[in-house]
Amino acid sequence: MALISLTDVVKTYATGKQKITALDGITLDIDSGKLTVVLGPSGSGKSTALNLLGGMDIPTTGTVLVAGTEVSRLDDRELTAYRRDQVGFVFQHYNLIPNLTAAENVAIGSQYARDAMNPAAALESVGLHGRERAFPSELSGGQMQRVAIARAIAKRPRLLLCDEPTGALDSGTGRSVVELLRSIADSSESAVVVVTHNAAIAQVADATVTLHDGRVQAHVAHRSPTAIEEIDW
Ligand code: ADP
Ligand code: MG
Repeated sequence: MALISLTDVVKTYATGKQKITALDGITLDIDSGKLTVVLGPSGSGKSTALNLLGGMDIPTTGTVLVAGTEVSRLDDRELTAYRRDQVGFVFQHYNLIPNLTAAENVAIGSQYARDAMNPAAALESVGLHGRERAFPSELSGGQMQRVAIARAIAKRPRLLLCDEPTGALDSGTGRSVVELLRSIADSSESAVVVVTHNAAIAQVADATVTLHDGRVQAHVAHRSPTAIEEIDW
């Protein structure tokens, strides 16, 4: 059974007199332990979809079901617990706290979650053993993104949601970050969902969802994803 089911999800924003339809009826299943890539032009609704999955926002109509819980019906207190315990988020610009070390950034992101990993173990799992005490300014972009990923996975989230995680990285570094996300999907029960502009990344995914004008234009499952070394970036 799918971990996540979106059914007829509509999201509209009212800005002044205008009504903007960011999502126009999305129906979609996403599996745990898989890497799902979401593609689509700017404004197609990718970030809105991720925010609904992450419980940062709720749909105007339709349902978001995650592991049997209807996220779209939770009250504020329940949504807080959902975000805290079940969702890891990774952003394009890392969003680390500059005056905290790598380990402290990981600790602070997972401190309220039940059953969190210890920060050193989380950092080791993203290849940053020995850099626990480094400040963000002492790390490369790729390393900062690894810290952000460690922070997100330390809480062992059901959903790892990544919005343009390689958008600020050069191709070699971006490739290694995608490799890391691929291995997280393979080695955990988390559903890893990656929003990107880079269609090359889709080749290593288990499934690709293409959004256009707030609708699902295509949803393709890849039976044998391409190995990361074999894709042209
Ligand atoms: P993408 O991530 O694919 O670029 P978004 O989900 O950010 O697309 O946006 C989809 C549409 O919804 C766009 O037209 C955008 O301008 C609009 N939108 C997104 N968030 C808001 C908001 N908070 N208020 C008003 N309009 C928004
Ligand atoms: Mg976006």
